[in-house]
Amino acid sequence: MADQIGRMGVRRWALWQLSNRARIGYVLAVDILAVTGVVFALSLIPVPSADLLPFVLLISCALVYPELSRPIERSRISRPFIDLNAVWMFAAILLLHPALSAVVIAVSYFAQWVRVRPDRLYRKAFFASATIVAGYAASAGYAVLSHGKFDDAPRDIVSFSLVVGAGLVFLIFKWALCYFCHATATPGDYALEASTIALGIVVGWALVDWPFVLLLIIGITLVMHRSVQFRDQARTDPKTGLLNSASWSNDAEAHLKRGEKAALLMLDLDNFKSINDRYGHLVGDKHLKGVAEVLRAEVRGTDILGRFGGEEFVILLPATSQQDAMAVAERIRRRVERFAVEDAVTVSVGVAAHPDHGTSLEEVMNAADLALLAAKAAGRNRTLLFAAP
Ligand code: GH3
Ligand code: MG
Ligand code: MG
Repeated sequence: MADQIGRMGVRRWALWQLSNRARIGYVLAVDILAVTGVVFALSLIPVPSADLLPFVLLISCALVYPELSRPIERSRISRPFIDLNAVWMFAAILLLHPALSAVVIAVSYFAQWVRVRPDRLYRKAFFASATIVAGYAASAGYAVLSHGKFDDAPRDIVSFSLVVGAGLVFLIFKWALCYFCHATATPGDYALEASTIALGIVVGWALVDWPFVLLLIIGITLVMHRSVQFRDQARTDPKTGLLNSASWSNDAEAHLKRGEKAALLMLDLDNFKSINDRYGHLVGDKHLKGVAEVLRAEVRGTDILGRFGGEEFVILLPATSQQDAMAVAERIRRRVERFAVEDAVTVSVGVAAHPDHGTSLEEVMNAADLALLAAKAAGRNRTLLFAAP
């Protein structure tokens, strides 16, 4: 935690390292929009004292739930943008004064940042801001159409439709605001996020009618979280914890279909057979896991990282130029060189770009593979960019 705070000096913020200026501007604009919304809400609407009890209960859930789900969440690697804490956040959006719901959302993301998934703080702040803005859109729409507060709404079909409509508005705004983080989302991911919001609606009603029901909902959310973990495990390579080959291809393909610029790194450990032969397969496995750790540490949250097979890894770098991809590949190669279990292990890297070297995943992979073969032929432990013959 002290270390995390130490990294927060403004000039050292990881946000400035984003390669794309427009993206930095966008992230800041969403943050500013959320803060402006909170200030406006505070100046326009007095905070009702009746909100205090549900506020305390929802803040408690936002703090306690990440602790309960910590063992599950720590092993989830592949779908960081699906956040089951939205259950408490959406209930807060329905029930509380906008400034209080913003506090619940901010506390929830901060608790996750501190305790669960070490991530860039600017990413957590951005997700919190996007959630606050989407929440304001949903509650403003609800207030205008229902002419009243969620607490006093009659239990009829009109109220039900309005609340479900508010949930849809929330989801659509959140998906639109976080579009670039959802590049590889599947229909299953969207369904999961929607059911989290549905559970948030139930929490809202429970808090109005009978808050004890909250205990049952915490249990249900944990079980739901467990099944998400199992689903993630099916996408994961058990030895390294990276995406397995099939899931990596799915995600990478989904990304390239959007037609944006991207780069692909194909990595193969050098003379790995001789490490196995000299030290045994268990030591070989330790090397594989160590290299996977290096890769994980060196890529961004939006990069798609997988184990392609045996001692081969693949990384898709969205919105990355050939030059930047070469720099990332070199950085990885040097980090692997410095890392050693029993004996130095090195890696050769082939780099190719989309759409410059191919328009489909298969074509770009072929190009990266040819570059990798050339790196091996040139003596190994090096990085080469695909050059058309
Ligand atoms: P090159 O530099 O040409 O890539 O040489 P290499 O020895 O790395 O390549 P080769 O394809 O001959 O051998 C790959 C080796 O990787 C063979 C296999 O024993 C080892 N390997 C593949 N998967 C695993 C694994 O899961 N664990 C361990 N310990 N070794 C593995
Ligand atoms: Mg190989
Ligand atoms: Mg090899």
